[in-house]
Amino acid sequence: MSKNAKLAVLGSINADHILNLAHFPRPGETVIGQNYQIAFGGKGANQAVAAGRAGADIAFIACVGADDMGKRIRDQLTQDNIDTTPVEVVEGESTGVAMIFVNGDGENNIGIYSGANAALTPDCVARHQHVIADADALLMQLESPLESVLAAATLARQHHTQVILNPAPATSLSDELLALVDIITPNETEAESLTGIAVNSDEDAARAAEVLHAKGIGTVLITLGRRGVWLSERGEGQRIAGFSVKAIDTIAAGDTFNGAFITARLEQKPMYDAVRFAHAAAAIAVTRPGAQPSVPWRTEIDDFLQ
Ligand code: ADP
Repeated sequence: MSKNAKLAVLGSINADHILNLAHFPRPGETVIGQNYQIAFGGKGANQAVAAGRAGADIAFIACVGADDMGKRIRDQLTQDNIDTTPVEVVEGESTGVAMIFVNGDGENNIGIYSGANAALTPDCVARHQHVIADADALLMQLESPLESVLAAATLARQHHTQVILNPAPATSLSDELLALVDIITPNETEAESLTGIAVNSDEDAARAAEVLHAKGIGTVLITLGRRGVWLSERGEGQRIAGFSVKAIDTIAAGDTFNGAFITARLEQKPMYDAVRFAHAAAAIAVTRPGAQPSVPWRTEIDDFLQ
């Protein structure tokens, strides 16, 4: 892989509508909110933005609706250093939406409409197969149709493109898909969904990693929130601590970690250094509110690591 190694990200785009209110409405009740904002989100877009701002040469395979929101999001992604040529505009669908209620205790209730994200079908993946074939790595999550994730991973394997899967949101996955993954990056909850092992300690993480290695995955990175990550490369595991910061909002911490990590790996940083780079990016993100607004640019990550 050269300095200009290419990254493809495949995943979701959502407009997050966030309403803060004193308490969640009960059935039939109307509650007047205190604050409302629209933020750009979706795990695919968040990870693409994290990679773009970290300096990756990245193209994003995704779908938006033929609406004003879709246009605004595409424009923003372009400003975040992302090639949006493979972002399809789907006629007759709206851009994906997340309706988020946040109550006075900071808890949230979320309803999602997939909208155009559902149009990221295996046919759509096939239309952009040259992007996957040209890339050195393909980064995916699970907010897109599973059969499309499988189709993309299959294409990647055919073209010797490394597959990195962030298996979020939590679900179980087929052995067929897992066998096509080179690097997997679950958080503790997702690791439990995949392996049945509750991850409460480094020993648990090591056991969960072994289960994933047995499925054919060479590198397992279980993110452990403020404790850092458990890195396991076939038989050898270690915990790599994160940075101690005053976290105010951990939304998109994992997304930032993933985008920054693969960017660093494509620059041929050794595994340990790539994890530290990703820890730094995610640590900056948790000190700021929101999803994409919190994602740092390369200069900020480099300054943090000085
Ligand atoms: P997710 O957001 O997917 O649940 P985690 O909570 O495991 O993922 O966090 C991913 C990464 O974000 C961690 O490995 C770490 O680098 C960083 N991170 C998360 N929470 C904190 C925190 N409180 N302080 C510093 N870094 C954090």
